[in-house]
Amino acid sequence: MGIAEKFKKLQQEVPPTVKIVAVSKTHPIDSIMQVYYSDYKVFGESKVQELVEKYEELPTDIEWHMIGHLQSNKVKYITPFVSLIHSVDSFKLLKVINKQAKKHKRVIDCLLQFHIAKEQTKYGLSFEETDEILQSEEFEMLHNVRIRGLMGMATFTEDTALIRSEFEYLNSCHKLIKGKFFSDKEFFNELSMGMSNDYKIAIDCGTTMIRVGSTIFGERE
Ligand SMILES: *Cc1c(COP(=O)(O)O)cnc(C)c1O
Repeated sequence: MGIAEKFKKLQQEVPPTVKIVAVSKTHPIDSIMQVYYSDYKVFGESKVQELVEKYEELPTDIEWHMIGHLQSNKVKYITPFVSLIHSVDSFKLLKVINKQAKKHKRVIDCLLQFHIAKEQTKYGLSFEETDEILQSEEFEMLHNVRIRGLMGMATFTEDTALIRSEFEYLNSCHKLIKGKFFSDKEFFNELSMGMSNDYKIAIDCGTTMIRVGSTIFGERE
């Protein structure tokens, strides 16, 4: 099956209310264009340099999402064009994004990345840290970022019960935070969870955005 067909098959499996972010990291321009020509324009990358290079080479109507760990000193390279940053994992990073967005007269949509997996290595905030950020006066002053919701990555495991419990936990955090800080804000409505190996579970658990790479583009090197 070609990339366009794989993409179409995925689209048929996913409810129309769930947005697919086609994760194109490591894959060449041609592969991305096969999805683009199927009239789909939402792509995700996890490294700043690769994201910038692809943005410069590809059509300008692509909606680019940053999904990987973002270093504060690299924010400036993506602020002119990025549509959504999924991976805000510290208050410091959020403040830098705000500052850069202000320079470009933009308001940048962001998700707060939660640490929900068992692995030590995955970045992300806890519920308590997030609660503290959102309560702070400093957060109130950030007018150039808009928090659209939460993102999380489940443990990489065959244990589907564990994955499910992690996604359910993230969904419950989303509800609590929405109730406490964003109850009158329509825009706080995104839950980015689910990748190639677990997007079906994520759909059951109420995801609104799945980030899928290898199912569409094939295995990465
Ligand atoms: C690479 C990546 C994905 C996609 O992974 P696949 O297993 O190829 O679907 C999703 N989210 C993040 C944060 C990634 O880095």
